[in-house]
Amino acid sequence: MIIKVLGASGSEVPGHYCPAFTVDGKILLDAGTICISLNITEESNIRYILLTHAHFDHIKGIPFLLDNLVVRETGSTVTVMSGQEVIDDLKQNIFNDRIWPDFTRIPTPDAPVLRFGIVRPGDEETIDGYRITAERVSHTVPSYGYILEKEGGKTIAYSGDTGPTDLFWKKVDTRNVNCLIVETSFPNRMEEIALQSGHLTPSLLAKEIAKMKTPPPRIYLIHAKPQHQQEIEKEIPALGREDIRFLTKGEILKI
Ligand SMILES: [Zn+2]
Ligand SMILES: [Zn+2]
Repeated sequence: MIIKVLGASGSEVPGHYCPAFTVDGKILLDAGTICISLNITEESNIRYILLTHAHFDHIKGIPFLLDNLVVRETGSTVTVMSGQEVIDDLKQNIFNDRIWPDFTRIPTPDAPVLRFGIVRPGDEETIDGYRITAERVSHTVPSYGYILEKEGGKTIAYSGDTGPTDLFWKKVDTRNVNCLIVETSFPNRMEEIALQSGHLTPSLLAKEIAKMKTPPPRIYLIHAKPQHQQEIEKEIPALGREDIRFLTKGEILKI
């Protein structure tokens, strides 16, 4: 499995883009950054977008991707998948013919550039050779973490935004996950803000990792607020793990 990091930050400043990761070029995990990081061919290869939640920093790339595909007349369809509440939010608040066009009817209702797919927490679903499991995590809005298993291959888990949570780690612990991508948004001194806003600090992350009997062997961190990233990075060695570090925009992981 090849994972390309289009963005891995909790906000946007020069050099830091919002979270999005391509899996083997055709599935996107979150969509905070798309078109400013992909070339035309790479854009056209995207078939599925798995959204953790509807916060703007995780969906921001979708409107421009759809617009580009329609303008280029690629004829391709992108299926945006998430929990029912997340999809409802996108329909009502983004693709509502006011903020942005309803791309489920463009270029034609029969062959639109956008389709929606609903995932149910705990269920397994197979798309394009990948076994997908979504599980609820704990954020300020309905949010899902994902486990992706390539058929006959490796398995990754992606938390999206979450504060302390349980179900997702139980599921990860049963699935022989090779690589975990998990958020760490704030430094330890901001624990109260992290908890209020449904995020983690390094010391909160340590408690989450300890919830698993067999934590994944590789753990990558994302979603630091750029203003706090250096401070957070200094607090990571205290976790006592060598296989843990922040991802950076443009990085490519071979799992
Ligand atoms: Zn969020
Ligand atoms: Zn976020």
